[in-house]
Amino acid sequence: MSQDKQNPDMKQEATDAPASTDFIRTIIAEDLKNNKNEGRVHTRFPPEPNGYLHIGHAKSICLNFGIASEHPGGLCNLRFDDTNPAKEEVEYIDSIQSDVRWLGFDWQERLFYTSDYFEQLYQYAMQLIKDGKAYICSLSADEIRQYRGTLTETGKDSPYRNRSVAENLELFQRMRAGDFEEGAHVLRAIIDMSSANLNMRDPTIYRIRYTEHPRTGKKWCIYPMYDFAHCLSDSIEGITHSICTLEFENNRPLYDWFLDRLKLKSHPQQIEFARLNLSYTIMSKRKLLQLVEEGLVSGWDDPRMPTLSGLRRRGYTPEAIRTFCDRIGVSKTNSTIDIAMLEHYLREDLNKRAPRVMAVLRPLRVVIDNYPEDKIEWLDAENNPEDSTMGSRKIPFSRVLYIEQEDFIEEPPRKFFRLSPGKEIRLKHAYYIKCVRMEKDKNTGEVIELGCTYDPQTRGGWSADGRKVKGTSHWVSAAHAVKAEVRLYNHLFIKENPEDTQPDKDFISNLNPDSLDLLSGCMIEPGLKNAKPGTTYQFLRQGYFCADSVDSSEEHPLFNRTVSLRDSWAKIQRAQSRS
Ligand code: ATP
Ligand code: MG
Repeated sequence: MSQDKQNPDMKQEATDAPASTDFIRTIIAEDLKNNKNEGRVHTRFPPEPNGYLHIGHAKSICLNFGIASEHPGGLCNLRFDDTNPAKEEVEYIDSIQSDVRWLGFDWQERLFYTSDYFEQLYQYAMQLIKDGKAYICSLSADEIRQYRGTLTETGKDSPYRNRSVAENLELFQRMRAGDFEEGAHVLRAIIDMSSANLNMRDPTIYRIRYTEHPRTGKKWCIYPMYDFAHCLSDSIEGITHSICTLEFENNRPLYDWFLDRLKLKSHPQQIEFARLNLSYTIMSKRKLLQLVEEGLVSGWDDPRMPTLSGLRRRGYTPEAIRTFCDRIGVSKTNSTIDIAMLEHYLREDLNKRAPRVMAVLRPLRVVIDNYPEDKIEWLDAENNPEDSTMGSRKIPFSRVLYIEQEDFIEEPPRKFFRLSPGKEIRLKHAYYIKCVRMEKDKNTGEVIELGCTYDPQTRGGWSADGRKVKGTSHWVSAAHAVKAEVRLYNHLFIKENPEDTQPDKDFISNLNPDSLDLLSGCMIEPGLKNAKPGTTYQFLRQGYFCADSVDSSEEHPLFNRTVSLRDSWAKIQRAQSRS
């Protein structure tokens, strides 16, 4: 059976079609036209609480909550599929709820847990036994695997398949009562050991597990399998459209089998769509957990992680993620989306909302020789040229400043329009300055200070005599600047497809050793001292940055680079439209 065969080489282009035209919405519109489900639209987002949500989950959340919100009376449940107590934790349940809210969706009172249905699910299992549709199998796990056969080989009936209904009922009740060891028996459906679909070869429905459950404690020592619980939970909740990812296509016949054999009135319609894959990113919770547990990242919310908590800490906005999820569309074919596209929609959003500020990441000291020692001017600086309602602020200018090291070069190549000996540039919002002297470190020869003169006639950065300069630098006043650390992030993996490894290696071998670059001694505008995490600023000419929610403080401000200014996705699109 083909489980999740993805083709990472396929690249999907952005579709600018409105979301309402995707195939799932078309199916639902048709159902409504035919008054199927009495005109109800009821979806759900059903995470397994065994990890933090990632950007792939965001696609599913936007789809399920989005569809519900597009129909009058439409509903969307948040349901924790908590059938596997061994891997589930309360920490995950809490983080999932706060992530869904942060993304902008509200389940109101419709918060459910599969574990709330354990009694009902048990009754459904009893019903199948009574109807001769399920039996207790006492083969070992290994034997069950051997009997199942393979894709090319049909399975063999279990020797326990013909147990009487009475014996099955008794054994199942005793399984519940805790009379047996783990693995002694399982409950299986009686379907077809020669089915081409391996899911239909007498799948296990219940197994014994002496594991405490985060919600039901020690009440149960038998737990339903995911496939049994999932479709029945949907039915119990009256879900009309069970939207899931493509790898569950082969489970659909099994889900239909359970719902039909139990003659349930509510029979949700399962619709599969392609999961989101992103270049340079892994999306499996198991693998993300491995990164966390092995300390290869600082936690689930490490700003390099594709988790919603990581993206939030990095400075992503929910709006940018929602727009991205809308624009990638919904399809039936697995593909990989270029991560540059996610960054593109982030920039587009931040461009509108991020206040502009000046921050010098690698400072070079500049002394304005003809500026009075003790003078300070408070100059006007607009907060966002894209949005005049964001107003302006006052920034201090004084005799000693910092500019970016890379904005000066002693021997400029042609077309270098920044500062060099004898050259004049504009300081943003301030004055024209001209470089008149250089001071070098005696040992290294490195330029450590520049002497400049300023032209008082160019206040605000414009010359009264119409004299033009080509370069503009950002700067901060040394006496006023606040020292900060900055974390520059790069892709977490070096390969577009992190699973593409040497035969004896796993995805860990593709981690990017340079995914984090730490700069200390950065000099930022004084107003940024109290920057609140969650507000992303544009550091002029550098990119978008936000204060780190965990490690930044007033005493030690620390900023994450959310995203640089260079938009490679826009470039790709321009190239595509030309060809
Ligand atoms: P993982 O493989 O990371 O463990 P999962 O699919 O097992 O993910 P669930 O908690 O079961 O994780 O997912 C909840 C919902 O989110 C499911 O309906 C699933 O289909 C959907 N989902 C998970 N990953 C993606 C993805 N990459 N793209 C779109 N939807 C996804
Ligand atoms: Mg799952």
